[in-house]
Amino acid sequence: MAQLIFEDIGHGVSCIDSQYIRSGLASCYLIEQNDHAAFIDVGTNYTVPLLLELLEEKNISIENVDYVIPTHVHLDHAGGAGSMMQHAPNAQLIIHPRGARHMINPSRLQAGASAVYGEDEFKKHYGDLIAIDEQRVTQADDGFSINFQGRELKFIDTPGHAKHHFCIIDEDSNGIFTGDTFGVAYPELTVNEQPFIFPPSSPVDFNPQDWLNSIDKIMAAGCNRAYLTHFNKVDNLQPLAKTLRERVILFAKFAVQSPNAQELKSQIQRYFIEEVLKTGCQLSAEEITDVLSLDIDLITQGLMVWVEKTA
Ligand SMILES: [Zn+2]
Repeated sequence: MAQLIFEDIGHGVSCIDSQYIRSGLASCYLIEQNDHAAFIDVGTNYTVPLLLELLEEKNISIENVDYVIPTHVHLDHAGGAGSMMQHAPNAQLIIHPRGARHMINPSRLQAGASAVYGEDEFKKHYGDLIAIDEQRVTQADDGFSINFQGRELKFIDTPGHAKHHFCIIDEDSNGIFTGDTFGVAYPELTVNEQPFIFPPSSPVDFNPQDWLNSIDKIMAAGCNRAYLTHFNKVDNLQPLAKTLRERVILFAKFAVQSPNAQELKSQIQRYFIEEVLKTGCQLSAEEITDVLSLDIDLITQGLMVWVEKTA
C-alpha cells in the first residue's frame, strides 16, 4: 500500500500526496477547523485510505468530515469522491453544477475514461467509481459560499481548463484552492523556490479566453497564496499569473499554427525543455521530458480538440 506523505502548511491546511501515478504529481488538501474536516480534492479511490489514515493521525473522527469538495470532476481530483462519501456518513459533497450529474451517476465518466485508457489501465489507476446519493450533493454556483465551522469558503466559477471547474477562496488563510485553473508546478522543476508554472490544457474543454478571465478572477480575489492540486502551495502570485497568461496564449498560438498533433507535441516538448533549462534547473532534457510526459500528451490532445472545435 502507498505511504502517507503530507505537509502541514499553516492555518489548519495540510497538503497530502495523493500518490496518483507517482509521488509529487497530484495532491489534495485537508482543512481542519474545530476538530472537523473538509477535503478539497480527494485523488482517486486509491488515495482514500491515505486520507483516512491522516484523519486518524490528526485525531479527527470520520463523523466529523463535513465536506468533500472536488474542484472539478477529472479523476485525479474527484475519482475517490464516492468512496470518501461512503466512509464519511455526515459529509456533503460540494461540486460545480456542470459536474454534479457525473458524481450522482459516474457510469458515463467511467465508460468515457475506460475507452481512452482501456479497461485494465482504468481499473489500475482509478478503480470503480462509486455513485453518490443525490441528497448528499450540493451544487455550488458562482458566488456560493459555505460556513465550515465558522470558516467561510467561497466558490467562484473558473472555466478554461474544464467547464465544470470552480476555485475556493479561504479567507482564514488568505488562500485560494485552484485545482488546475492556476496551473501546474511540479516540485522537481522548482528552482530557488521559483515554481515552473504552466496551464495544463486537457481534453475536452480547453478555452483560452475563458482561462484568461479565470486567472483574472483568481487574482481579483486578492489572496496571497494559491493551493495547486499539482502540486502544493505557491506564494507571490502576481508573476505566476503573468507567466500563466503568457503560456495560455502561446499554447493556443502553437495549436493554431501547427499542421498536426505530432508536430504540436514536439513543439510543446521543445518549448518546455528550453524554458525549464533557462531557469537553471539541473535536470537533463530527458529527465524534464519524463516529469512532463503526461502533461505534454494531455496538453497536445486538449489543444487539438480545441483547434478542431474552433475551425
Ligand atoms: Zn483537470
